[in-house]
Amino acid sequence: MSDLFPVDQQVVRSGAGMRELGERLSRILYRGDVVLLHGDLGAGKTTLVQGLAQGLGIEGPVQSPTFAIVAEHEGLDPGGERLILYHLDLYRLTDPHELHSIGYDQYLEPHDGVSAIEWPERAGDWLPDRFILVKIEHAGADVRHVSITRHELGGLSPPTS
Ligand code: ADP
Ligand code: MG
Repeated sequence: MSDLFPVDQQVVRSGAGMRELGERLSRILYRGDVVLLHGDLGAGKTTLVQGLAQGLGIEGPVQSPTFAIVAEHEGLDPGGERLILYHLDLYRLTDPHELHSIGYDQYLEPHDGVSAIEWPERAGDWLPDRFILVKIEHAGADVRHVSITRHELGGLSPPTS
């Protein structure tokens, strides 16, 4: 696990601040990256994805794809190449097996873009090999504590000391 920003925990004080954090995150994303978003309802997961989308040059509204599970948005990377943002929200998923029918695996290795997944814990242990984990916690009315860390599964972990 490694931190993506100089401080591992950010304090975000508004929805606008969360969008800005998402935009900053978009600048260090590459094709194939998967961002998992943990946090309660109203934490700001979708708000952060809106910032990501903005940073990827995506125009038009980004809402939680609650009914469809997946929404696709077409954007451009800094080199002007087409890039797709796959935005998933698993909140309403009742059985991880439903994920087979949407071809969940393709979103865990998005070769032509990046994925942002809200409520990934609904998929149980069905995780990508590598992911960026965004954890958002309420800390008062408009205040959120956010940590953003990179994780790899499957490989050997380096010793921690
Ligand atoms: P989630 O997708 O986690 O359920 P949303 O992003 O849809 O949450 O909603 C978060 C709501 O909280 C938005 O209405 C947003 O404007 C508001 N809000 C207030 N303060 C913050 C903050 N610091 N960070 C993110 N959202 C905030
Ligand atoms: Mg949401």
